Amino acid sequence: MKVQERSYVTSEAPSLKVSDYFGSQVFGLKEMQEALAPSVYQRVAGAIEKGSKIDMSTAEEVATAVKSWALAKGATHYTHWFQPLTGSTAEKHDTFFDALSKMEKFKGSALVQQEPDASSFPSGGIRTTFEARGYTAWDPSSPIFIYDKTLCIPTIFVSYTGEALDFKTPLIRSTEAVNQAAVDICQYFDRNVRKVYPSLGVEQEYFLIDKALYSTRPDLVMSGRSVFGHNPARGQQLDDHYFGSIAQRVKEYMKDFEIEAWKLGIPVSTRHNEVAPGQYEVAPLFEEINKACDHNLLLMDLMEKVADRHGFKVLFHEKPFAGLNGSGKHNNWSLITDTGVNLFQPSNSARENLQFLCFLVGTIKAVYVYADLLRASIASASNDYRLGANEAPPAIISVFLGSTLSSVLDELEHNGNVKIEKGDNMYMKLGLTKIPEIILDNTDRNRTSPFAFTGNKFEFRAVGSSANSAGPMTALNVIVADVLKEMKVDIDKEMEAGKEKKIAIVDVLRRYITESKDIRFEADGYSDEWAEEAARRGLSNLKSTPFALDTLVTKKTADLYKRHKVLSEKELHARHEIRLENYIMRVQIESRVMGDLALNHIIPTAIQYQNKLIENANGLKGLGLDHRAAIETIEQVSKHIESLKLNVGEMIEARKRINKEEDIAKKAKLYSTDVKDAYFDKIRYAVDKLELLVDNESWPLVKYREMLFIK
Ligand code: ADP
Ligand code: MG
Repeated sequence: MKVQERSYVTSEAPSLKVSDYFGSQVFGLKEMQEALAPSVYQRVAGAIEKGSKIDMSTAEEVATAVKSWALAKGATHYTHWFQPLTGSTAEKHDTFFDALSKMEKFKGSALVQQEPDASSFPSGGIRTTFEARGYTAWDPSSPIFIYDKTLCIPTIFVSYTGEALDFKTPLIRSTEAVNQAAVDICQYFDRNVRKVYPSLGVEQEYFLIDKALYSTRPDLVMSGRSVFGHNPARGQQLDDHYFGSIAQRVKEYMKDFEIEAWKLGIPVSTRHNEVAPGQYEVAPLFEEINKACDHNLLLMDLMEKVADRHGFKVLFHEKPFAGLNGSGKHNNWSLITDTGVNLFQPSNSARENLQFLCFLVGTIKAVYVYADLLRASIASASNDYRLGANEAPPAIISVFLGSTLSSVLDELEHNGNVKIEKGDNMYMKLGLTKIPEIILDNTDRNRTSPFAFTGNKFEFRAVGSSANSAGPMTALNVIVADVLKEMKVDIDKEMEAGKEKKIAIVDVLRRYITESKDIRFEADGYSDEWAEEAARRGLSNLKSTPFALDTLVTKKTADLYKRHKVLSEKELHARHEIRLENYIMRVQIESRVMGDLALNHIIPTAIQYQNKLIENANGLKGLGLDHRAAIETIEQVSKHIESLKLNVGEMIEARKRINKEEDIAKKAKLYSTDVKDAYFDKIRYAVDKLELLVDNESWPLVKYREMLFIK
């Protein structure tokens, strides 16, 4: 096969030292300081720090400086770079060259605001009901960069009536909400804390397959996953290193995109462990959340582009291959103060650990109270294949703490009667001195939890590999903000009733620990027992997206988002609708691909093979030989062909029927139950059986073993 003869493409780093070129394509604070007059720089830096608006005259100066910087770097175009609700990023390129004046131009107004053609982006009814157009506005808190000779300006995307049409706007709002709530809690412990920002480090998993093989699979091309395909005999266990030359081609690819990432200031810290054959991972160092989300999207884009150069196709789908590991995007999240304290870092000082516990317990309670919202935040047609599947977190949201912290919380809860006398060492009495600074605990490696505490941060593992992290991170910020705010009210109440501050805090924490205990789960999240146990505890187990999304349009969610000024009810409804539309579209595409492949490729091939078998059986019979085995195979093939015809036909009818449904939520649910659940597995079963029966030479689809192992 040709693919096996491919040689690898090597790439050249601009310098041996990464520090020589890290961020060379980024117009960051340092570049601004160099290019701008000190007073202008102060205004910009101040606005970034405070998250306030930049006035027009300052914008003019920045635009002029950015333009000369970009032109010197060879950029020819500029674009507002934004994150519409479709999930990827969008751009509309304009050239710097002004044909009228025959000069390169870039005005402050072009930096600050633009009008993309909003009609091509989803708005979930907002556009039609309200204003037909939207605009993009510069987000100075994420740095400007040059990508492919284009100057990219990170922007938010909003309608003229002010509704958010993107992922970034609510993320920024939620960051502010959690900042305010967290600062208030910090004030109990340290008056110097003025700002708290969420940090995020994204572990990105992906599959890499040969581009030529990829393009022969219409299902991969159209839906991102293989709808058919029998497991390779040795599937997951097969060691990738077995194929000596593979590693080199993949390695060169990784090296190449890492170099490009570093130029863009993305702090990827090379780490790529394979789990399933053909699967890899990349993780950057954590950053401020808004930047981290932008960087992850940019990195994904980059990985796709660079893959092309290497003859690869990178798959970000959560479950491209049935029976193998899915891909996630672990979102490592914490809260960090402007005084440099990670609020999820246990300390060697028991006093500081009380603060740590406020944030730990607050987050646990937030996940408990808003588990359904967190579940909804990661729901997508593609992630549905992963959650609950092979080596993936279940669709039940729970929190993992590890044995050390679990016992600390248990002790706090159970010694509720312990009276603290004046002069007592409260911390010792309550067991708070038992929290080690570094939690070294084997159980911390529990990989089955969707939401795990990992030493100094929470790791939201249920996020899908193709998702924009901004979605789930917005939800997480908001729910934690909400509980921290409530915590402050509760603590203040206790203090007003005469309790000493520390005691008031401990009492509130105790109550929260008791209330939210049911969300904590330490054992194997993949087991059936957990599903049963979770049901007993009353935890939701929402396996399908359109059902999980219901929570977006409840009063509870609307009130939450309104309280924190993150999304209005209208914006929430719009998002609900867009995600349902997206779900329907995805399942529809998969269903069509399945039908087409089955009818036009699989069945004709199977019939041909069947004819050969019939000839063979007749021949054997003519010779007076035993032909029972041949007949048996013919029967099996016929059975699967019949089953395919029947189920594909019924599935098409079901689609026709469901397409008449006007209520979009009902329609999406019907697509889930009456199309996907009712037919996908049955159709796949027949095809995968035929794959084993029909002779290898004539099988119309490239097989799993070829896609996964040939590089
Ligand atoms: P593991 O999940 O194997 O423990 P690492 O410790 O390397 O992996 O961390 C994974 C990711 O978590 C990295 O992107 C890292 O930068 C990020 N991370 C580490 N500390 C924090 C933090 N305080 N806040 C957010 N992300 C963090
Ligand atoms: Mg991890």
